[in-house]
Parts: sequence; C-alpha cells; structure tokens
Amino acid sequence: MRQTLRFGRVAGIPVGAHWSALGIVALVVVALGSGVLATAAPGAGRTAYWVAGVVIGLLLMASLLAHELAHALTAKRCGMEVESVTLWALGGVTEFRDEARTPAGEVATAAAGPAASLLLSGLAFAVAAVLPPGVPRAAAAWLAMMNLILGVFNLLPGSPLDGGRVLHGLLWSRYGDRARADAGAARSGYGIGLALTFAGFMVIWVWSPLGGMWLVITGWYIAGAARSEILSRTARRGLGGVSVRDVMTATPDLAPAWLTVQGLVDTVVLGSHQSVFPVVGFDGAPLGVVSLESLLAVPAERRADTRVEALVMGQKPPRVLSPDDDAAALLERPSRTGGLRAVVVEGGLVTGMITDADLGRTLQQALLRPAAPV
Ligand SMILES: [Zn+2]
Repeated sequence: MRQTLRFGRVAGIPVGAHWSALGIVALVVVALGSGVLATAAPGAGRTAYWVAGVVIGLLLMASLLAHELAHALTAKRCGMEVESVTLWALGGVTEFRDEARTPAGEVATAAAGPAASLLLSGLAFAVAAVLPPGVPRAAAAWLAMMNLILGVFNLLPGSPLDGGRVLHGLLWSRYGDRARADAGAARSGYGIGLALTFAGFMVIWVWSPLGGMWLVITGWYIAGAARSEILSRTARRGLGGVSVRDVMTATPDLAPAWLTVQGLVDTVVLGSHQSVFPVVGFDGAPLGVVSLESLLAVPAERRADTRVEALVMGQKPPRVLSPDDDAAALLERPSRTGGLRAVVVEGGLVTGMITDADLGRTLQQALLRPAAPV
C-alpha cells in the first residue's frame, strides 16, 4: 500500500499512513464529538467533547499502529522480512516480503497484534478506573472498549484475520503440511465470514439496523477475502517451480512498429492464430502491444497511412520478463491490452509472450496433475 504520509522508520521498517486513514479519524471525531461522549458524560461543554474526540481519534490511530508494529517487530525477530506498516481506511496493514518460516514464528507473529490491543485495552481501562467521572474518563473507557473489540475480533480463528494465522500455524505444526494448513485456515475464515454475515442479518432483524449492517459488511468482506485467498494460494502453488519459459507462447508473431496497419494485417495478422501482438522497434526491443480490437478501431480508409507505431504511442511499455523468471510473478499484476500479461525478452529480443489464456491453461494443468492441492 502506498504511504501518503511517512512517520519514519521503526527498526528499519517504513511506517506511514495512506490518506484514507483520515476516514477513521474523522469517523471517531464525529461519533465522539456529536453524541457518544455527551451520553456517557453529560453536562460538559461542546468543545470538551470535540477536543476529546480529536485526542481519542489520534490515540486510536496510535493503537492501530501499535497492533501492526507488534506484528512487524515479532516477525522480524522470527527472521521474516517486513516491507512496511501502513494505516488505511480499514485499520492497519503490515506487508511482509516473505512468509513465515516456522509454525512457531507464524503463531507468534499473528498473536502479537491482538496481544498488543488487549494490553492497551487493559491500560486504558486502568486509566479510566482511576480518573474521576467526566469526559476524560468516558473517553478512556471508549478507547479501552475499542481496543478490546479490536483484540477479540481479530482473534476469530479464520483467515484473513490474525486468529486465522494462529490457526494456520497450529494446523501447519500438527499436519507438518503447509498446503493442508492453508486450506484449513481459509475454509475456517470462509465459514466465520458467512456466520458473521448471518449474525448481522439477525441483528438487523431483531435489534439495530446500523450495528447489524456493520457485521454484514465485515462478514461478507472476510468471506470474500478467505475465498480469494483459497484461490490465490491454489494458483501460487500451481505455479510453484514453474518458469516463465514453461508458460509462454514461444516465438510469437510480432508487429513491426514501422509497418502500416494495412501492411501488418496483410503480412502478419491474417495468417496468425494470435489475437494480440507485441510491437517491436528496429532493434527488436518491445515497444507496446496491439490487439485485434485496437487494429479494428482504425477506420478502414486510414489503415494504409497509419503506422503501427502510432497505435502504441503513449502506451505504457509491456511488462518484460526473462524466460528463467518465476512464473508466479505473473500473478502479481493484472493483464493489459488484449489479455497480455508479459513479453518475454532474451538477449534484447522478444522470444515469447504470455497471455491470460497461457496462464489459465498452466493453472488448470497444475490442478489436473495428480496430488493436486486443496
Ligand atoms: Zn493484526
């Protein structure tokens, strides 16, 4: 996730916030300033509620940061590389460069976040307990409650929640098989997501539409994330040990940039099985890509005097991979024009290309192989 605002580095890890994190602060400030605190500690001035709202909004962001940093620092201690810690609209996210090496490391890393939240909750409750009745006490109690919810909710045992990672680590250590643990944790996440969605509908029906709606949205989000995790892990494993060379369409028909569209159609396109063509310059380097659609978009009367070069002008150059690259890299970014995922270049020349169709075929072949995972 891109960081709009950089706070600095903690143990070498860049810590920052995406602008969407302002949404949480705004929500908290408005909720506390306009009602929650006035109900909990009536009689104080309006200004006191809004000031407390801002302070608690910022403290909640600090709590989210502490939760993520607990993940990040524990991960580092367990030998994992951490890319960044970022706050955004749905809380915090820690991005890792690699996966946990051991089940114990995975359990410790996943549990550290909720542990930090529960610790902060206890701290805030203790502060609230010693304060006299009033706005600061109500504010501290509210912060304590939020951290408690954050800690407990994240411990629900289903991927993608922290509890799901804990479950994954435990299953991994029990089965000694990561793939089986993947499937178990993701399935559990899917079940929890659906259960939360169902509970949300029940709450809407018998109690409060607003609280229920929140549960429905969160549950649905978790179920969706668990499902896409099942799919992406299957895909990743399907491509494990596969190189770009194994996936690519070798020596594809190319579109020389200097030809006219009509020239390209006559000499290349009409005799080809491809629907997308890498465009190359005089030196053989890839400049872009044209598809049958982009050729059809050129009016018939202009095909004789429009050069292929003009069609790729302003186009971002295609992704370039080498034949020995890991095919799993193809999953990182979506396809572009005509379903082209990447152009394969060897010694400066285009020797292959990979389309969605190539990738789909490889994934399906992997699933058909004996002992297919999941
Ligand atoms: Zn967490």
